[in-house]
Amino acid sequence: MYAGIVEVMKCPQCGREMNLEEAVEENNEIIGGNLYCPRGEVWGIS
Ligand SMILES: [Zn+2]
Repeated sequence: MYAGIVEVMKCPQCGREMNLEEAVEENNEIIGGNLYCPRGEVWGIS
């Protein structure tokens, strides 16, 4: 998953933009982290 894609990712539940926290990058790719929805859902990246 590329960093540029994360910036426009929307929550699958409510469609709001999510914030990426605790991101783990490798070769310009996000390989880990958590996406936080403003409504409280958390989506892990692995
Ligand atoms: Zn949501």
